[in-house]
Amino acid sequence: MSTNSDYHSMWANLGLDLAKHDALLGALGQLYQQTFLAQRDRPAGMAYFDFVMSEVHGLRIKELVDARAAGRKVVGSFCVYVPEELILALDGVSVGLCAGAEFGFDAAEQYLPRTTCALIKSFFGFALEKVCPYLAACDLVVGEATCDGKKKAYETFAGLVGRFHAMDMPQHHSPEGRALLKAEFLKLAGELEEVTGRRLEPARLRAAIATVNARRAALARLARLRAADPAPISGLDALLVNQVAFYDDPVRFTKAVTDMCDELERRVASGEGVAPKGAPRILLSGCPMAVPNWKVPALVEQAGAVIVGEESCVGERGARNLVDATGETVEELIDRLVDRYFQIDCAIYTPNPERLDHVRVMRHDLRADGIIHYALQFCTPYQMEAIGVERQLEAEAVPVLRIETDYGAEDAGQLRTRIEAFIERLRG
Ligand code: SF4
Ligand code: SF4
Repeated sequence: MSTNSDYHSMWANLGLDLAKHDALLGALGQLYQQTFLAQRDRPAGMAYFDFVMSEVHGLRIKELVDARAAGRKVVGSFCVYVPEELILALDGVSVGLCAGAEFGFDAAEQYLPRTTCALIKSFFGFALEKVCPYLAACDLVVGEATCDGKKKAYETFAGLVGRFHAMDMPQHHSPEGRALLKAEFLKLAGELEEVTGRRLEPARLRAAIATVNARRAALARLARLRAADPAPISGLDALLVNQVAFYDDPVRFTKAVTDMCDELERRVASGEGVAPKGAPRILLSGCPMAVPNWKVPALVEQAGAVIVGEESCVGERGARNLVDATGETVEELIDRLVDRYFQIDCAIYTPNPERLDHVRVMRHDLRADGIIHYALQFCTPYQMEAIGVERQLEAEAVPVLRIETDYGAEDAGQLRTRIEAFIERLRG
């Protein structure tokens, strides 16, 4: 990660704590080296994503600062329910806010119970320790009332950021739930118009829908290519691409993914891959993995298996289903957005049978031998669903390993043992 001294004045202007920020970037750089650059047979196309990551707090932040200087607004969010199409249609820049590192947890626990998931503690820690330039560059932060943890945490978090918009969320896939989501999208549209000083126009909204659709289609193409055996790309690299999707310029990102997919198609045609043909194939399912939460995928692939898909918001759940861009008015187009976003099968919904069905479909399509269900400790929605997922799939003779963990390294040894035993079971 670039700690280029040229960026220090930019970080200082954003109000970051430079000493803590340097320490964070130093640790991230080392972790990236060990986790990603040490892999073998990576596609050449990953060079772009390595570059983006090396400049994740440098060049990309400079782009945000320059965009703001040119009058554009930066909008941060934590969840794939926030419709980025509305932000882009108002010439805003949408950024996902980092919540994947154990940093500042002591400070976070001054505001949150210890029994809060690592994702929430992480975004508090980053804000309190002043180490997140994305958050610092935001003109608006959107927080969705998904799980109870986030819902309550945002009450306090709103006071730590400049401008905060709370978005209510349905909990049922019912007509009333859909109506609530639509009302919230309309409210968010009003807030974004106020922040940006612009009006939503159908043509611009259609163009924004096309931009985000193109990115989702590129990610879906990448996901499909992973069905090949041997897999043409590691699960770690594919996860990284999905993580970068939350930070990068969407048009540039789509081109980089498309170019890499061309390369992966050539790899598949020539039988080239990242793991030996026949290596155990794993589908990861569960909580989203934000940068730099790479612990479990790294352990899985270091143990000789290959991850072929992520049933997760940083992965399939965030990227699947395109928005139908037909509509003459802003409200018609917002209806089309609701149609797409309402299909997201997050565990905050009850009941949520669509998610298990989709795990089955992904396992079949990607030819996965087993499922690793990944839940963060204290994440009640995914921990609860994990038990049903495990029971149902094991009853269908699909091997499942259920993991609950956090962002720390303390349990890495124990996890490695369990993961290796699971992979042996798949080989058996
Ligand atoms: S898991 Fe649910 S709350 Fe978390 S990002 Fe996905 S949709 Fe949002
Ligand atoms: S990981 Fe679970 S508890 Fe944490 S924010 Fe997401 S849904 Fe909520």
